[in-house]
Amino acid sequence: MMTTEAFIAVNLDDPLRFDCHPGVSCFNNCCRDLNQALTPYDVLRLRRHLGVTSREFLRSYTLEHTGPATGLPIISLHFDQVRQGLCPFVTSAGCRVYAARPASCRLYPLARAVRRSRADGRTSIHYALFREAHCQGFEQSRTQTVRTWVSAQDLKIDFKMNDALMELIALKNRFHPGPLAIEQQQLLKLALYDPDAFRMNVDTGAMTEWEGDAISAEDDIRLLEWSMAWVMRKLFGHKH
Ligand code: SF4
Ligand code: SF4
Repeated sequence: MMTTEAFIAVNLDDPLRFDCHPGVSCFNNCCRDLNQALTPYDVLRLRRHLGVTSREFLRSYTLEHTGPATGLPIISLHFDQVRQGLCPFVTSAGCRVYAARPASCRLYPLARAVRRSRADGRTSIHYALFREAHCQGFEQSRTQTVRTWVSAQDLKIDFKMNDALMELIALKNRFHPGPLAIEQQQLLKLALYDPDAFRMNVDTGAMTEWEGDAISAEDDIRLLEWSMAWVMRKLFGHKH
């Protein structure tokens, strides 16, 4: 049995002995007391799955704070101590939003990072394995490659949207180091985490002129992409 916790760098073709299913003795134990930040795409997919607006989702299931050094909004799942620190979505039968669970839950026990070379600006993808002593998943017999595990988690859109978010944060840090002004913080949060309200502001012309093609009410992924591009252009001076 594993007795330590560690992050270990892994390659896509490395073997990964891991499985998680209702039969493991630790089933559900990991869905509590986490510090689980949500990406804008996590929020979009979860609120769509639950059939609520972004605002209702944020109010009911998340905590919000602002990064003191950056002024960037940080939205986390609310692990309520009244419920013994459980995730708001965990039930005795497992995750009730399994099909729409956040990217970090999908990828566990792996974590993914994108690095950009200072020399030539190229990006590279890296994976690490998080071995936790309490997780019996590593004691299961199923073995696959890291690549197979990642491919099975339906993360293609997550990677695309989250890489775009990383670009946005890198741009912010480069051209706007230090905390954002309050008004910028509010605008950024609205654009990234409350696209319903952002759409209303855009549609009524209250905040900015419409730019680009019409985006239908159902196309919330495109709206989020547009919102992120808006932030990069209008708040951080990105030219493209
Ligand atoms: S969203 Fe689902 S998988 Fe993720 S911590 Fe909550 S219950 Fe667990
Ligand atoms: S095997 Fe690991 S991931 Fe699965 S329920 Fe247990 S602690 Fe959580």
